[in-house]
Amino acid sequence: MSDNRIKSALYLIGWNYETGNKDHLRRNATSIIAKEFDVSMKDKIFCPICLTPLTRRPLVEDFFTNGREAFFSHLPSYSDVDCKLRVPKPEGQLYETEEQALEAIENKQLAIIHKFKSEAPAEDDSEVDEYDQTAIEDVDGPISAVPISRHNGENLDLPTKISTVAGICRKFNENYYKYFYLPNANAAILLKEVLHNIEDVIDEDDEPKLYYGVIRGSFVAGQGTDSNVRMTRLVSNPLIKDFYFKDLNGIQKKHGINDNSEGRIVIFWGKITPNGIGLCVENLTWGEYGLLPEKYNSILIK
Ligand SMILES: [Zn+2]
Repeated sequence: MSDNRIKSALYLIGWNYETGNKDHLRRNATSIIAKEFDVSMKDKIFCPICLTPLTRRPLVEDFFTNGREAFFSHLPSYSDVDCKLRVPKPEGQLYETEEQALEAIENKQLAIIHKFKSEAPAEDDSEVDEYDQTAIEDVDGPISAVPISRHNGENLDLPTKISTVAGICRKFNENYYKYFYLPNANAAILLKEVLHNIEDVIDEDDEPKLYYGVIRGSFVAGQGTDSNVRMTRLVSNPLIKDFYFKDLNGIQKKHGINDNSEGRIVIFWGKITPNGIGLCVENLTWGEYGLLPEKYNSILIK
């Protein structure tokens, strides 16, 4: 995502956001651009608008491995502070009481996901097909304190699910306008607003997010066995060389991805990491991705 790209930062030694005088910072700080940053300035750089501490991404190098220039960004811990330099966040849905939230869950308006399934379900040898119910059924997660109360600072204790992205894909039409509280989130957001298009991604991102991408080709590396890596190439931003979705061939096949998947859409929950001079997602668990049934492609492809 291109949010949080800040071009210049205020640099001042010995000031901090919690106790510092704001005018003192504005008057005495030096404005620096991302290229002028070095690691000794860590914790001493601040947003020129909201004055909260910034970081530089990447921190040490002036460039990402894919050649993109470094930039400044806000710290997630100050996300409550409004700033014109932040892309406005989609609005989270809030609930008055636990009963109200439970009702929303029962009415299929809200899903609270504790995590995605790490293991494939036990199989009875037969091929698990794309829409196999047992492969995508939710199981109960722990009761968790979820920050979706209308009352500031309060949490609601709610039942969670251990889910699969394939399950989200299966009834995608229904899920598209449903609120999802995703793992480690701080709000319940409409699925349509929490889904990121891979074509917008030009940098690494070590915070897992929900993405979708259109497959432009897929092949198996090495010997071509099930235990070799299947390289599924997604349509990516012209600013990056390429984007690969990587997992073992045998596992991608069980998710329905094979040599003939061009044009299909894969949805996944993961981090964006370097892959040569391009980008990729890899090391996903069983439940962290799914292939969108083709009939729903038109929901995402305009
Ligand atoms: Zn700011």
